[in-house]
Amino acid sequence: MAAPRPRENILRIDAYVPGKASLDGPASARVIKLSANEGALGPSPKAVAAYREAAGEIWRYPDGASTALRAALGKRFGLDPDRLVCGCGSGDLLHLLAQAYAGPGEEVIHSAHGFLLYPIAARSADAVPVAAAERDRTASVDEILARVTPRTRAVFIANPNNPTGTYVSGSELKRLRAGLRPDILLVIDAAYGEFARAPDYSLGHELVDGGENTVVVRTFSKFFAMAGLRLGWAHGPAPVVDVINRIRGPFNVALPTQVAAIAALEDVEFQARVKAHNDRWLPWTADALRALGLEVQDSQANFILVRFPAGAKNADAANAHLNAAGIIPRKVGAYGLPDSIRITIGTEAEMRAVRDALAAFMG
Ligand code: PMP
Repeated sequence: MAAPRPRENILRIDAYVPGKASLDGPASARVIKLSANEGALGPSPKAVAAYREAAGEIWRYPDGASTALRAALGKRFGLDPDRLVCGCGSGDLLHLLAQAYAGPGEEVIHSAHGFLLYPIAARSADAVPVAAAERDRTASVDEILARVTPRTRAVFIANPNNPTGTYVSGSELKRLRAGLRPDILLVIDAAYGEFARAPDYSLGHELVDGGENTVVVRTFSKFFAMAGLRLGWAHGPAPVVDVINRIRGPFNVALPTQVAAIAALEDVEFQARVKAHNDRWLPWTADALRALGLEVQDSQANFILVRFPAGAKNADAANAHLNAAGIIPRKVGAYGLPDSIRITIGTEAEMRAVRDALAAFMG
């Protein structure tokens, strides 16, 4: 008997494999998980309290339009709530954008070491993912523009990028937008944007306001450290917001999620602590590992990409050594970077443990 068959392109997708969350063996008891870029300090205690308080309400459907949450986002970030739409994580919104704006045989450009969800989202829409070469592990506007064809429908760029931590400046983003045909949707994924320190960095919201064809996607999974809540949001031109609203799940943001996110947005003191922590421990970790002779990419996010030499001290050996010390970094072979591992910025004690373990490894 014939079994149901999905569209052919679905089976060409390599499913996203998340970073490891646990270890086997002796190291399993005390684990330092630095594989998913979750916040070092955990979520705002006020967000946790609001979440608990909402527990008695979960028999009700949430507000399907996330009205109060969009108002809180608009207030916190100076954006028009009517131009915002929330999703079940930002990954959900990236999928919906690919599904809505790209179709069979059409092309979606991403940078070579860009976030893995872009080719997955493109393929699940029967579109063709097109990788643009990078320069020094950084997205290149020229390379992206060179890959544009009449079939190009969208460009997805993570800024700062995961897993490299590198970024393109606000003026480069502007040049990218100006160089793309107006009918090509530019999706700026600013999942780590709150951490960026470079003075010429821009989240890209001004490009959304300046036209009809740019979307900025953001998340509560990283800076707000609420990955378990599954909340992402997009700022887009009215027609793009309208399109997402037509195809998203009608109740896609859970009730406690909405309440907890509003509390997190109001807790600006906690946000300042998160920023200060990363501003201190990201450079500390990068410098400490460079002092061991390792190559560390400059990062604008809450993680660093560390490159290991070929031979006995390679990335696989480093990963195994860290695992033996109870530390779980992220292997990034699937991103075409088998000589590197990505390490999330954790607490001070966790960063010192990483330094000590890698010092022992480098011997
Ligand atoms: N974009 C980037 C660049 C990411 O690194 C991630 C998470 N790894 C996401 C989007 C998706 O995050 P979430 O669905 O949790 O919002």
